Amino acid sequence: MRILAVGAHPDDIEILCAGTLLRYAREGHEVVICVATNGEQGHMVIPPEELKEIRKKEASASAALCGAELIWLDIHDEFIYHDHETRMMFIDMVRQARPDVVITHNPDDYHLDHRIVSELVFVSSFMASLPHVQTGHERTHGIPPLYYMDSLAGAAFIPTEYVDITEVIEDKLAMMSCHESQVRWLKDHDGIDILDMIRVQGRFRGLACGVEYAEGFRRLHAWRRCPTSRHLP
Ligand SMILES: [Zn+2]
Repeated sequence: MRILAVGAHPDDIEILCAGTLLRYAREGHEVVICVATNGEQGHMVIPPEELKEIRKKEASASAALCGAELIWLDIHDEFIYHDHETRMMFIDMVRQARPDVVITHNPDDYHLDHRIVSELVFVSSFMASLPHVQTGHERTHGIPPLYYMDSLAGAAFIPTEYVDITEVIEDKLAMMSCHESQVRWLKDHDGIDILDMIRVQGRFRGLACGVEYAEGFRRLHAWRRCPTSRHLP
């Protein structure tokens, strides 16, 4: 299968579903990570123009650790809107990725960029199949199932499906560690040790399903989006 994971910012995928992507990759599936915004606002000192280049390098290094292709949309951080231009950009991105399974943010997550990306992925993963909507890539065939990944720290999110990430938790943390600028930013701006948070959240989700570490998901329940078999590892 081809797996597409779409995050609003360059480290969201690492925090919320990198363990699952590592499992997919190790089972021989193709993984594509799409980062919507360039994360240019995420530092106390480094200016946006400089930071966005750093963050692209960090995201590339992290994607390489799970053998994933990286699609970098380079939209301004904190200024993503669901307008015509952005929707077309997302449709083309889905066509480029040709996914059998799509993962993105929970529609109610804490950050508006996350919510807008969730909505854009919802609509574009359907619209990518429409023959009269033209972009740079061929239309897709079929409408892939869509999974919403956990929220930050699991706030207000009740998973309906779990993935055991016990075997890959250290590799997930290694992927997050590629985002050096953000390990620093989250300490400086939010007082959070993100590596500790990832471990605690993984352990907590693991307790719910009887393994050491897990990631939680909810599947979109909508017409044509409900496969009869499990698509998560
Ligand atoms: Zn984010």
